Amino acid sequence: MEQLLLLANEHRSLNVLMDDASWSSYGQVRALLEAAAQLLGGAEKLADIGEHAAIAAGSMPDSTGAMQDLGSPDAIFTQIGAGHNGITPLLETETEQCGAGDWIIRSRFPVGYEAFPELCWFNVGIDRLIPALFGFADIETVEETCLRRGDEWCTVRVTYNDTDSIGRSMSFLESRLQVSNSRLEAFQRTVAELVSADDLDTVLNRVIESAAHAARASAFVLALDPLPWSARSVYFQGLESADAHDVARRVLATAEGSGVDGGIAVDIVSTRRHYGKLIALDRSESIMAHEHGLLEAYARLVATALDSATALEESRRQARTAHALLNLSTALAEIATVEEMAVKLAQAIPLVIDCDRALVLLVDADAGFARIAGSQGFDSRQVIIGTGLPLVAEGWIGELRFHELDHTFGGQRSFMQRCGIRSMVSLPMMVDGTAVGILLAGVTSRPERLELNAELEQRLRGLAAQASTALRNAALVEQIRHQAMHDSLTGLPNRNLLMDRAEQMLARSRRDSTASAALYVDIDGFKNVNDMFGHAAGDQLLCAVAVRLMESMKPGDTLGRLGGDEFILLAEGESISDGADQLAERLLVALREPFHLAAVPSHPIELTASIGIAEGNRMTASEWLRDADLALYRGKTDGRDRHVSFVDEMQTAQIDRLQIQDKLRRAQSAEEFFLLFQPTFQLENRIITGVEALIRWRHPVDGVVMPDTFIPVLEASGMIVDVGRWVLREACRQAARWASIGWPIDMAVNLSARQLDHESLVDDVRDALRTSGLDSRALTLEITETAVMRDPVRSLQILTEIRDLGVRLAIDDFGTGYSSLAYLQQFPIDTIKIDRSFIDRISASDESRALVHTLVQLGKTLGLTTLAEGIETNHQLEFLQNEHCDSGQGYLVARPMTAPDVEALLSRQRAAGLSSGRSACRTDRQRLRHLDGSRSAGG
Ligand code: C2E
Ligand code: CA
Ligand code: CA
Repeated sequence: MEQLLLLANEHRSLNVLMDDASWSSYGQVRALLEAAAQLLGGAEKLADIGEHAAIAAGSMPDSTGAMQDLGSPDAIFTQIGAGHNGITPLLETETEQCGAGDWIIRSRFPVGYEAFPELCWFNVGIDRLIPALFGFADIETVEETCLRRGDEWCTVRVTYNDTDSIGRSMSFLESRLQVSNSRLEAFQRTVAELVSADDLDTVLNRVIESAAHAARASAFVLALDPLPWSARSVYFQGLESADAHDVARRVLATAEGSGVDGGIAVDIVSTRRHYGKLIALDRSESIMAHEHGLLEAYARLVATALDSATALEESRRQARTAHALLNLSTALAEIATVEEMAVKLAQAIPLVIDCDRALVLLVDADAGFARIAGSQGFDSRQVIIGTGLPLVAEGWIGELRFHELDHTFGGQRSFMQRCGIRSMVSLPMMVDGTAVGILLAGVTSRPERLELNAELEQRLRGLAAQASTALRNAALVEQIRHQAMHDSLTGLPNRNLLMDRAEQMLARSRRDSTASAALYVDIDGFKNVNDMFGHAAGDQLLCAVAVRLMESMKPGDTLGRLGGDEFILLAEGESISDGADQLAERLLVALREPFHLAAVPSHPIELTASIGIAEGNRMTASEWLRDADLALYRGKTDGRDRHVSFVDEMQTAQIDRLQIQDKLRRAQSAEEFFLLFQPTFQLENRIITGVEALIRWRHPVDGVVMPDTFIPVLEASGMIVDVGRWVLREACRQAARWASIGWPIDMAVNLSARQLDHESLVDDVRDALRTSGLDSRALTLEITETAVMRDPVRSLQILTEIRDLGVRLAIDDFGTGYSSLAYLQQFPIDTIKIDRSFIDRISASDESRALVHTLVQLGKTLGLTTLAEGIETNHQLEFLQNEHCDSGQGYLVARPMTAPDVEALLSRQRAAGLSSGRSACRTDRQRLRHLDGSRSAGG
């Protein structure tokens, strides 16, 4: 054979050539026949091949059997002539019966195809074969004409002995047996393959392949009722998939009978059950009629295969169930979130219960909803994780229940329809007596599978019990985790979680080079709310602020609370597409809307906030938030109610500040602070009527440090409250001492904003006065406008209390803030101290002078004492005198000085015959000129 194929230059394998379905071209056939002739020693040898080979080798059981099925040589010759012969469509064939056992067969090629001797001889052989198939003897063939000789047809006359004899039927039966044997062999091969195949798909494919091989029909379809464990129910050969499915559907739909258009159908049935149908399709019904028996044999084979596959599948299934349960309990034993649990449960359900789809729902107790947390077997259009179903309202929750599509209504029904569920079981997962979730198992076909029976119920309850335990554990763990990661008041992420998220966002920013920003939000003067309305109000306000901030967020942003009134917003993408400062501005605007708190129904609370912004181009989250904090700090010191973006200089400033802060802490305990006193005087006569206490820090190495360097640090760290309290006491003590020795002069003490914020201020003042014994009228507290305006409501309250003690109040650095004097007037103020910067410019321009004029006039109009700061020149002094400014302070008259120096100055003043203190006002103005010596008094 190898030689033959080689010689014919035939590349196809023998198997392919043997297959009835493979076709050969004229050239291929000719090459094969010529090669055969060459090997056998002449074209005429092919007649023998045609006559005997088919039966002898049993290699053509299908076509041989089919021919025999036609019953007689006459029937075959008739069919060949009637054009039913599909064997060689190229060859046009006519047949003519001349008598009993006497046929003329004519054949010819169309124009363009050459006749060749090998085919002529082979055809002669086939012509002899046909009577031989039925056991006829004395077969003779005579070639009467031939195309190769120029004739119009090749004509062969076949004659044979047409008498029925025992010999003939014997040989017919023999050939028949041979055909059957080869069919049986094919069948046995199929069975062998069945036994060795392990997966049903392969088995069924082989069955239908070998059925196609053994039986003669153009197409086969194996149509099965849906099997629970197999997705496929249609197998086919010889036709398109769509057509096969169509045939399967039609045949399965017609309940009885084997009739099918253009074919026959036999039942696939075993003692266990009915599986479906095996269908053979062919246009020639006469052939089909004879295939019924064979088809039935194959159908039985399919049934057996399905029986054993079912059995196998059942035991596999049992093993899988055990495995799934084991996996599930291992998975559930690991600590996971409730959501993870739900997903794992949903996956396990179809493995444990004979169902196609599963859902795990978590009950949202407040909302009466159940949320889909895990699903299996659905496609995403049917079920969306996170969707809520009004389960409680629709009564899905309850005991273990079987729902059938045909007996459900309302939402439940539409849900089942949407998901293609024919029936389902639901049962609650209980934790401590309440349903926390629902397990759902559904089927898309054969709804009876979920009808409750003892075994199914046991499995379901087992699952639910496992799930409940796991959910309880997961919920506990989640709660603990949540507590560790969230702020208990607002429920926002706390510092830990925030740092985590910040790291993630930074990593994303680095990877995708996208922008991100941290916004450090701090409520201005939040403490006041606590002080004025109580902590409940404070807590409510923080929650309300959290809500406001959240409303300005976009998905993907993270808002967290660091504690107190400090929030962090981590933003990226859309949120900051038009700049982080725009977002900050939106937040500030949102927070300015008054808050209506349940705790303070009558009093809407108005807030401002400060925001520090840092871009997310840092390596670590802690650097990132630190820089945002630095920017916030700048926002606070720049006057609050604003947002500030971080710049590098802030960091160097911060380092200095941290170092100073550390030293300051030691300074306080080492008592390195001390006070100097700078006299204030009446402008018209330069008589000293008071002093302002100014703090200094005697640093062991650096020497005396000025307050401008360290006051801001004390303020930022909050240490100013303690230090300020000390200044107050010390200043009062000094003033009281001077009064006791006959110099009853005024004492002015500076207050920082932080002190004003602090609840202890009024007590501290009262305390300082009481312990020192100083007359409260001798004390003036100096506060800046900005400090007052930070929280006007509270300021008014505090300042009124202080004023009620008899203490006087001055607005320090007046003119540098943004408030109008008219507004300031509402506060119980006695004095405005016109800022040094205005005095500085007196000599510079007319405008500056006009400004000072206005400020002094304003003060007078409002009935306030005016004091000019920083008078350094006589020109300034004279100008202010002409403006009738009340008093002054400045190096021209006296620098800040020690207490003994003040005493020396005062005694000189007295020696010069001038009085000091409040009592001296305006009485000795004419002696002004004698006071020159005081100018040298040093600070
Ligand atoms: P301030 O309240 O405006 O105090 C006046 C400042 O002006 C003092 O600076 C004083 O030395 C300076 N000064 C007075 N006359 C002249 C002048 O003619 N020319 C010039 N160039 N400067 C003059 P000092 O002592 O350095 O204090 C700076 C600031 O530190 C004070 O400004 C005050 O805001 C703050 N401060 C000082 N002591 C305390 C304190 O005990 N508590 C608080 N909270 N702040 C204090
Ligand atoms: Ca001052
Ligand atoms: Ca000042």
